[in-house]
Formats: sequence, C-alpha cells, structure tokens
Amino acid sequence: MAIDLDERKVEVHDHSRDRTINLGFDQLHIATGARPLRPDIPGIDLPRVMGVQTLDDAHAILARAELTDCKHVTVVGGGYIGLEMAEAFVRWGAEVTLVEATSQVMRTLDPDIAAKVTTAIRGFGVDVRTDLPVTGFEEGVVHTSEGEHHTDLVVLGMGVTPNADLAADAGLELGPRGSISVDRRQRTSADGVWAAGDCASSFHLVTGEPVHIALGTVANKQGRVAGVNIGGGYATFPGVVGTAITKICALEISRTGLSEHEAATAGFSFDTATIDTKTIAHYMPGAEDMTVKMLAEQGSGRILGAQIIGGRGAGKRIDAVATALHAGMDVQQMIDLDLSYAPPFSGVWDPVQMVARRLVRND
Ligand SMILES: Cc1cc2nc3c(=O)[nH]c(=O)nc-3n(C[C@H](O)[C@H](O)[C@H](O)COP(=O)(O)OP(=O)(O)OC[C@H]3O[C@@H](n4cnc5c(N)ncnc54)[C@H](O)[C@@H]3O)c2cc1C
Repeated sequence: MAIDLDERKVEVHDHSRDRTINLGFDQLHIATGARPLRPDIPGIDLPRVMGVQTLDDAHAILARAELTDCKHVTVVGGGYIGLEMAEAFVRWGAEVTLVEATSQVMRTLDPDIAAKVTTAIRGFGVDVRTDLPVTGFEEGVVHTSEGEHHTDLVVLGMGVTPNADLAADAGLELGPRGSISVDRRQRTSADGVWAAGDCASSFHLVTGEPVHIALGTVANKQGRVAGVNIGGGYATFPGVVGTAITKICALEISRTGLSEHEAATAGFSFDTATIDTKTIAHYMPGAEDMTVKMLAEQGSGRILGAQIIGGRGAGKRIDAVATALHAGMDVQQMIDLDLSYAPPFSGVWDPVQMVARRLVRND
C-alpha cells in the first residue's frame, strides 16, 4: 500500500484478515510489474470490456465468451497481445474486428513489415481497422471515430504502464514512461531499495539511453541481478537491445535494435536493406517465404536493428542479429560470421548475412 523510506517500513493490507500492518525492512526489492492500460473512455468498465494480463484473465474471458454464446469479438489495440487474442478468437469460432488507433499494427515494427502482419491476419479472417480510435463502449456496442459497430465482447490490448505509483509516492526517481529508475545493479535512487522487471527502467545498448521495455526476458535477467546484489554478491545488467518475437497465425515475427522511427529519433543517419528469401534452401520441401530488413549506420556500417517476418524457422534468426548488436558489430563483421548451413536449415548464406550483404551492396 505504501513505502516509508525514512522509517524503513512498508504498509501492507492483509486481505485475509482485513487489516493493515507495517513491515520493517533493511533491503527492499520492488517488483510490482506493469498493468494493462485502461484509458478513461466512456463504458470501459462494463463487464464485457475485458483486459488480459494473467491466466485468470484468460479463463475469465473464455468463460464469458462461452456463457454469452459470443458471436463477435472486438479487440482494441494492434500490439502483439491484441493480435494474439484476435487470432485465438478466430480459432475459437468468433468473428473478430481489431481496432487500432494508429496507422499500423505492431508499432515496434516499421510500417512496411507491419503491413505484412496486417495482410496475414486479414487473410486469417480478422477485420483489421487502423486509424480508428475507440471513443466509447455501451452494452453490445463499440463507438469509434467513424461510427459504431455491434459486438458481444471487447478485449483490450492497449499496452501496459509500469506499476510505479508506490515508488513515485515514496519519492523514488522515475525514468522513461514512468518506470522506476535503476542503475546497472538494479539500485533505485534510494539506498537499500532495488527494483527489477516491468516496473523498472533498462538501458538501451544501441541508443545509450534509458528505456522501458516490459518483457519477461528483461524481467528475469534484472530480477536475477537484483537478487545477487541483495544477497551480498555483485552483478550487473548491462542492458537491452529491444529483442522480441511473436507468432501470429503461421507467421513468425521478430525484431531487435531500433526501428526506422527509433533510429531517426535517436539521431542516427542510417541505410536500410530488405530481402525476400526462403526459410530453408529454396529447392527443399517445406521452404517458406521470409523477409529480413536490416538498418545500419551510415559511415560506420554499425548494425542498428533488424526485423524478420516469415514461415517456420524465420523468427529466431533474429537472435544472431541481437548478438551482433550486443557486440557492436558492423555489417561486414556480420557477413564474415561463420554461421551454420545445410539445405534443411537455410541457403548457403544465412538470411541475416544476405541482408547484411545487400546493405554493403557487394552481392
Ligand atoms: C498476455 C501477455 C503475454 C506476454 N507474452 C510475453 C512473451 O511472449 N515474451 C515475453 O518476454 N514477455 C511476455 N509478456 C510480458 C511478461 O509477462 C512480463 O514482462 C513479466 O511477467 C514481467 O515480470 P515482473 O515480475 O516484472 O512482473 P509481473 O509478472 O507482472 O509480476 C508483478 C506482480 O506484482 C504484483 N503487484 C503489483 N503491485 C503490487 C502491490 N502494490 N503489492 C503487492 N503486489 C503487487 C502483481 O499482482 C504481480 O503479481 C507477456 C505479458 C502478457 C500480459
């Protein structure tokens, strides 16, 4: 409920006995995570407007869909959680409309790559509507800036915000998007107070700036580092490069580093290259389409980021680029890497090396 840094105690409400108690601490670790955004839109608290964060939420959504003989679902928000929910409800047998306020789904991708996601999810049967902010909900109705449509159930996937109110109220320094500011050892601005996970900031190894990225990969590593330090050891979390992966319908989608928008915002001059290739040797049965896009800094050739979209086996190839970003490699070093090859796995040149070759224009 509250943190008192002067008295070194936290106020806790014990629901089972309906009482409030104070617990003293020597070291305090804050791991309060993030919460889904529920903007102040009329009707957002209606029972049929449901958020999805925990497994219990998923059970509750499914139970409501089954109980109400749901025929039509509206998903609000085109991030990976919204897209995954849209796919799940098509598979379940509902008609699905996905409403996204901005001009594209998956805004961590560049528009050209995101357009492929939109095509795929539309092909799967989801009615995707972009540039369409939701303005309100009523029982069985979704209001948008362009009119209204009927729906039986609304699922929100509008992003998350760090649960940092306790920390802010205690006077701890905040970082990007209101996350708790931490150093490389997960120390907050107060002595003996630590934070990790979705509530905390990270350090971006490509931009060199603090960043907030709410992912389990980051949360696990930060939590480990905080634990070692709280236990009296020494550990640091060097930072993140923004690596993420998802699967929408049959498509694997991954990204690392900076998108074009992020690179421009960070002040980089950069080149991009995109290749269309196959997930395995093109003459092998089971070869599927795959697109790789890469960004590199002009002049230095330093790799800034990459995005991959394609069939089975495409997505995890992003990890080679993420490793290159950690190492600060340039495109020539990527080309020179001794990566594996046999026809059931790739062409002779791995797709992430093919796109690097395109960037230096020596293919
Ligand atoms: C639908 C969904 C899919 C996801 N898929 C992926 C994925 O594929 N890959 C990936 O890397 N990440 C994924 N994530 C993100 C991942 O779940 C989070 O990054 C991760 O759980 C963060 O861990 P955490 O420990 O920081 O926070 P959480 O796991 O959110 O834990 C925080 C806990 O603190 C509790 N809490 C909050 N405030 C208080 C308080 N005042 N007092 C006491 N307790 C409090 C909360 O109830 C919660 O139990 C997904 C998230 C969602 C919602």
